[in-house]
Amino acid sequence: MTEFNLPDHPHRRFNALTGDWVLVSPHRAKRPWQGQVEKAQEDKRPSYDPICYLCPGNERSSGDFNPDYQATYSFINDFSALMETTPDGGFTDGELFIAESERGICKVICFSPRHDLTIPEMEVEQIKGVIDVWQEEYRSIGSVDFINYVQIFENKGAINGCSNPHPHGQIWASKYIPVEPSKEDKRQKEYFEKHGTTLLSDYLEKEITAGARLLCQNDHFVALIPFWATWPFEAMIISRKPAQNILAFNEEEKTALAAIYKSLTVMYDNLFEVSFPYSAGIHQSPTDGKDYPWWHFHMHFYPPLLRSATIRKFMVGYEQLATPQRDVTPETSAQLLCSLPTTHYKKSC
Ligand SMILES: [Zn+2]
Ligand SMILES: [Zn+2]
Repeated sequence: MTEFNLPDHPHRRFNALTGDWVLVSPHRAKRPWQGQVEKAQEDKRPSYDPICYLCPGNERSSGDFNPDYQATYSFINDFSALMETTPDGGFTDGELFIAESERGICKVICFSPRHDLTIPEMEVEQIKGVIDVWQEEYRSIGSVDFINYVQIFENKGAINGCSNPHPHGQIWASKYIPVEPSKEDKRQKEYFEKHGTTLLSDYLEKEITAGARLLCQNDHFVALIPFWATWPFEAMIISRKPAQNILAFNEEEKTALAAIYKSLTVMYDNLFEVSFPYSAGIHQSPTDGKDYPWWHFHMHFYPPLLRSATIRKFMVGYEQLATPQRDVTPETSAQLLCSLPTTHYKKSC
C-alpha cells in the first residue's frame, strides 16, 4: 500500500473553528455525473423594476414606501422572524421539553438603488458604503439592551432560496447567541486561554505560509478556502489583525474589506460565468457588553454550486445522517479559483 496522502486518499478533516468534521473523498472527483441538470439562472435585469419591493420609491407589502434612496439603505424587515415586542418567558416540562422566548430585530439592507448590481459588479467605494452601514447597524442594534448577538448576512441567488433578486443583505439580531457563533465562541475561547493568541491569528499565519488554499489578500484581509471547507467553493475572509468585531475597523480597513469582498465575488462569478449564488455572513463578538478578546472577525461564504452554473451540491443522505462530505479537495478548489481572470467576465467581453 502507498503512504497516506491528502490529495488521493479518503480522510476526515477537523474544523478547528466549530469542532465539527468533514469527510473528504478526493478519489471520487472524477466519477460520472447522471444527476439533475437545473436551468441556468436568467441574469438580465433592468436597473429599476417597478414591481420590486426593494427598489427606490416603490411600495412594500407593509404599505410603506421606500424613500428615493441613492446609496445603501436599511429598514426593518416587513416579515421579521424575530420581534422586539415578544414577552419574556418560556416553557419547560422536565429535561425533554424546553422552549425559551426569543426577542430580536430583523432588518433588510439594500446594497444599492440599482436592481441589477450585485457586489462583484459594484465599485469598491459603493461596497464600502455597505460596510459603513454594517458597522453603524452593528453599533446601534448591538447597543439595544436585550440584543446580545447581531448576525449580518447575505443570501444571494434564486438557486439558494433568495426571494428577491434586488441585491440585498439582512440582519437578524437576537437575545440569545445563535448555534454557529456559539460553537465558534467556545472553540476560540478555549484556544485563547491555552495559547494567549486568537485561533484565527495562528490559523491565518499557517495558511499564509502554506499558500495552497489562499485566494487573494491585501494589507488588512486574506481570503482563502478553509482547510475544513465543506461546500465545494466555501471561502472565508479573515482580518489580519485580531479584531473582535467590525467596530475595530477604520476607513482604510473598511475599504480593504470592500476590495477583498469584491475580488472574491468576482472570482466566484468568473468560475462558471454566472452571477454566483452563495450565503455569506459575518461572525464577530456578541454584543452583551462583555469583552471577547478571543473573537476574531471573519466572513464565511457558502456557495451551493458544484461543477457548473446549474449543478449544485446537495447536503443529503450521509451528510444529513452522519457527516458532511466533499469530493474535490479544498486545495483543488483554491487552485481552480486562482487560475481565473481577476476582471469580471461581463467587463472583459
Ligand atoms: Zn429592485
Ligand atoms: Zn465563523
